[in-house]
Amino acid sequence: MSGKNSLNLLKNYGNDSSSDEEVPGPRVSTKRCLKDGDNALNKRLPLPEGFRKDRIEYRDDPELHDGRIRSFAHERGNWASFVYIPITEHVSLERLVSYIKELMVDNIDVKPMSDLHISLTKTVVLRYIWINPLVKTIQNYVKCFKKFVIVLGAVKVYCNEERTRTFLGIEVKSGYDTLLKLVNNLDKCLSEFNLPPFYQDPSFHISIAWCLGDQQNILESVLPQINEKLDDLKECYPEDQWYSVVEYLLCKIGKIQTKELLCARHRETEQTR
Ligand code: AMP
Repeated sequence: MSGKNSLNLLKNYGNDSSSDEEVPGPRVSTKRCLKDGDNALNKRLPLPEGFRKDRIEYRDDPELHDGRIRSFAHERGNWASFVYIPITEHVSLERLVSYIKELMVDNIDVKPMSDLHISLTKTVVLRYIWINPLVKTIQNYVKCFKKFVIVLGAVKVYCNEERTRTFLGIEVKSGYDTLLKLVNNLDKCLSEFNLPPFYQDPSFHISIAWCLGDQQNILESVLPQINEKLDDLKECYPEDQWYSVVEYLLCKIGKIQTKELLCARHRETEQTR
């Protein structure tokens, strides 16, 4: 197709008014001159999915997720993503959450957290096309890390930035320096994609329970009792996992996609060879 005809095609794409310019149909010779009223002139190619204005709007229904409100509007092609360390649940943590639920039964509806983890980035919004490039960049930035140990400390109260949810989290006592280095590297990756960094003053933790709204004051008032219970549990069940060996990071992208990023196990094998 000649350059002139390509330009004509572009000019007519999205133009409702008919004209007698030379516009080729799909299998029509570019030399054929179309007449006024020719149907092919008015037939436009359908816009690609992502550009259509008439696409069905997504409506958020907080009832479907325990009243939680989204931090950002759901939009097709945008994937909520974050990097984290997965943590295995254990019985003592369940016991602690049951204790907290009972303690707060008259005041707040405290819910246990599922999928325990330590966040290393905020939840960022990623366009589909940036998923693979970002994952590759992260892999590059974190590949020099070896596996390390974290030890759990005391319970603290956290609120999300919008102050629509409050969390009870067990802060990481040991392993902070490595976590901070990881976060600095992850922040560099995110900045390459114009995505926001983690907190200036990170407090690495495993959220074990949450409730709706800003309940920081009321939960902080019962922290001494909660931490006393935690100390009892640590003493009674020393065999439970009060520490964790971090061997890899995960990147959660949307609901479905999870990619392994850091394989310290693999690096260790390389070094021992
Ligand atoms: P997470 O369980 O990692 O999602 O964390 C629970 C909440 O803690 C998040 O909504 C964060 O906004 C909040 N948070 C508040 N301050 C901090 C901090 N200094 N470091 C990490 N998370 C924080």
